[in-house]
Amino acid sequence: MTPQVGILVVSHSAPLAEAAVALAQEVATGPLRLAVAAGVDDPEHPFGTDPTAVLAAVEALDSPAGVLVLMDLGSAVLSAELAVELLPEDVQGRVRLSAAPLVEGLVAAAVQAAAGADLDRVAREAEAGLAGKRMHLGSDRPDATPAPPVAVSPDGTGRVGEWVVGPAHGLHARPAARLASILTGLDVQATATNSTAGRGPVDASSTSLLVGLGLVHGHTLRLQVSGPEADAALEAVTALAADNFGDPVGGDTPPPDTAPTTHADDILPGDDHADDGPVLHGRRAAGGLALGPAVRAGDLPRTAPPVPDGPVDAATEHRRLAEALAEAGAGLAATQARVAAHDPAAAEILQAHRALLTDPALTGPATDAIDRGAAAATAWWEAVDAVAATWAGLEDPHLAARVDDIRAVGAEVLAHLVDTVADDDLPEGVLVADTLLPTDAARLDPDRTTGVVLAAGSPTAHAALLLAARGIPTVVGVGARAQHIEAGTCLLVDADRGVVVLDPTPSAQAHARDTIAARAVALADQRAAAQQPARTRDGTVVAVAANVGIAADADRAAVEGADGVGLLRTELRFVDRDAPPDEEEQVAAYTAVCAALPGRHVVMRTLDVGGDKPLAYLPLPQEDNPFLGLRGLRVGLDRPELLATQLRAAVRVAAHHPLQVMVPMASTVEELRRARSLLDAQVEAVAAAGHPVPDRVAFGAMVEVPALALHIDAVVEVVDFLSVGTNDLTQYVLAAERGNPHVSHLADPLDPAVLRLLRQVTDVAAPAEVPVAVCGDLAADRTATALLLGLGVGELSVPPPMVGPVKAAVREVDLPTARQLAESALRQPSAAAVRALLPT
Ligand code: PEP
Ligand code: MG
Repeated sequence: MTPQVGILVVSHSAPLAEAAVALAQEVATGPLRLAVAAGVDDPEHPFGTDPTAVLAAVEALDSPAGVLVLMDLGSAVLSAELAVELLPEDVQGRVRLSAAPLVEGLVAAAVQAAAGADLDRVAREAEAGLAGKRMHLGSDRPDATPAPPVAVSPDGTGRVGEWVVGPAHGLHARPAARLASILTGLDVQATATNSTAGRGPVDASSTSLLVGLGLVHGHTLRLQVSGPEADAALEAVTALAADNFGDPVGGDTPPPDTAPTTHADDILPGDDHADDGPVLHGRRAAGGLALGPAVRAGDLPRTAPPVPDGPVDAATEHRRLAEALAEAGAGLAATQARVAAHDPAAAEILQAHRALLTDPALTGPATDAIDRGAAAATAWWEAVDAVAATWAGLEDPHLAARVDDIRAVGAEVLAHLVDTVADDDLPEGVLVADTLLPTDAARLDPDRTTGVVLAAGSPTAHAALLLAARGIPTVVGVGARAQHIEAGTCLLVDADRGVVVLDPTPSAQAHARDTIAARAVALADQRAAAQQPARTRDGTVVAVAANVGIAADADRAAVEGADGVGLLRTELRFVDRDAPPDEEEQVAAYTAVCAALPGRHVVMRTLDVGGDKPLAYLPLPQEDNPFLGLRGLRVGLDRPELLATQLRAAVRVAAHHPLQVMVPMASTVEELRRARSLLDAQVEAVAAAGHPVPDRVAFGAMVEVPALALHIDAVVEVVDFLSVGTNDLTQYVLAAERGNPHVSHLADPLDPAVLRLLRQVTDVAAPAEVPVAVCGDLAADRTATALLLGLGVGELSVPPPMVGPVKAAVREVDLPTARQLAESALRQPSAAAVRALLPT
């Protein structure tokens, strides 16, 4: 008979260990092989652990089935480790030290051991010992920080609390901003101290001063709080600390160095760059080819502003600073709202940046400097510089590196105070950075920044989408090696292949230069040709429309030759304000977009916001998984008055323009029916109000949720058209959050699972005469154009600059061949295998 797994309890206290063992014996259904190594042989000081006692106990329990060792704290763990080291090697191999909680782990392990489970199973059950309790108490945070001792402060004026800093990177800007915002939202005065390093006290409502305390992981934060809401403040901070200050448990480190530098000889056969030089591998975020000297992110314009000539008027400068702060805040808020759905991490960074705009450590000195006669720009920049210098001096390199945050915020404000933020000062070349803020991405001049290489990041992160929209070839996720690229190093960025060549050979450089020049000529031709419809080689017309947010985008779409607007993201109108836009405002906004492309269809997507993209006037519940929560159409059906107003505006515009209505993030046919009848009711309401109404408003749905694609036969009964949002569809099919760099390797829209769903949709929609478009980012990937058309997609909707290149790709397609390509893609085992079939 197989021997039973032995279980050893190592504890500082013999009575504790024995009682735990008695409990386990009571719970388990059979005899057990249990032993105890607990306490020390000293009647005066009985608490402690003895490695030799542990060693003896393991030897006594040892059998081929193995031994599980459970320990309480501190030296118990050290004693157990030492004892294992003293065991013969073959015995060591079957002794498992477990991090399981002593009592719960022991009981769970005992039950399994008694039932004859093997060591793996027993150990697993022990580790999971807290699951039942967590579930019962509704807490799934394994490492919740215990409530701190909170006391009346020594001078009796307030309360004091202490917390150990949990986030892997300490109290950097984001957790600091969360803490500061709790305190500023309550009627309290609070000071913060780093008790471990002896820094402080500082004003705890200042994010920058909190960061300046240099609180790294494991340091103790001490708050002294007074005021009517002191208790509430300490309670809220305790909850924040228990939530790891809002940071992910385990840290938010950039992705591991998954992309080692290889010499050209090591890279895959068939790679065009095999002889070009050392290569970094990453992922394509925006296609294209670039060649130029590396420009480090530190070279982004963050320099002091020019000092104005002549004396300045303090009142004017105060007003200018206030306006600049407000405008920068509005800009950051708008970007934050826009990126929230795609890139929650970037949204959080932007939230922290917004907090800095009201930070007294910045605004106070700036205001004082203006009072002393400084111009607003100089005063502001000096305040930024002073805080940046404090941060730069912090010992923890991660906190010190956050200097970029303060300078980025400084530059945002400066942009509103001086005519230029010296975009022209950014040296020409390939920008190399760890990550890039959406605002920086938006500011880059494609004529100067010819390519971008990021250590981290994901292709669907907002900065990447902006770079794609601006046509800057970008490779993301090349890993930490990017940090070692020196400014000036010649880089060849082949973004289509996700490859960066360092110091390419002269012949590779010459070849790249020729290719870039030839492509520029081709692009100009494509733009010119884009004014004509795109026909495949066999004569089928394929509409190439544009994804737009505001009327200016629609103007650009018209210039680029878009056949219409396949996706009008309306949410931009709804963010950063106290109340939703009323019907009149919406009518004006949608009319402006339609007027940019007269006679061409405009697909107006109803509000696509949610728990991950909150609106001030739309309080939604806090959600653990916002991407699975109240989003898109779910919000509209939950707040029908909001959706109804938008639909009435759409109906009024549709009376004069070919405007169509599309709903995002639908999961069920029932939701679609409810949206459709709300639309029908608004047609009646608009008519009753005396406005002209169209005969019919086309109603469509985005296919973003797998359930809708799986139920497509019923969906086509309710809709007039469909548009596949491959960004969201991919995240939901692969269960890989978009924008999360740790899972971006999974979130590949070319995964055969996504393609099969797409095929299922087109197969059913075609006979029902329901047209199917794709408006996710995949539509702009020219290597996938033939595949998408082969799968039966009839319209592609892409960022405006991509209209010409995608139309050119459509003209290369022969549909019968494309259908064969699609058949073969559907049979592939992986996204990589699909990609291997596609043209480069
Ligand atoms: C999509 O999900 O593919 C899409 C186009 O919608 P958004 O990117 O706005 O979520
Ligand atoms: Mg979407």
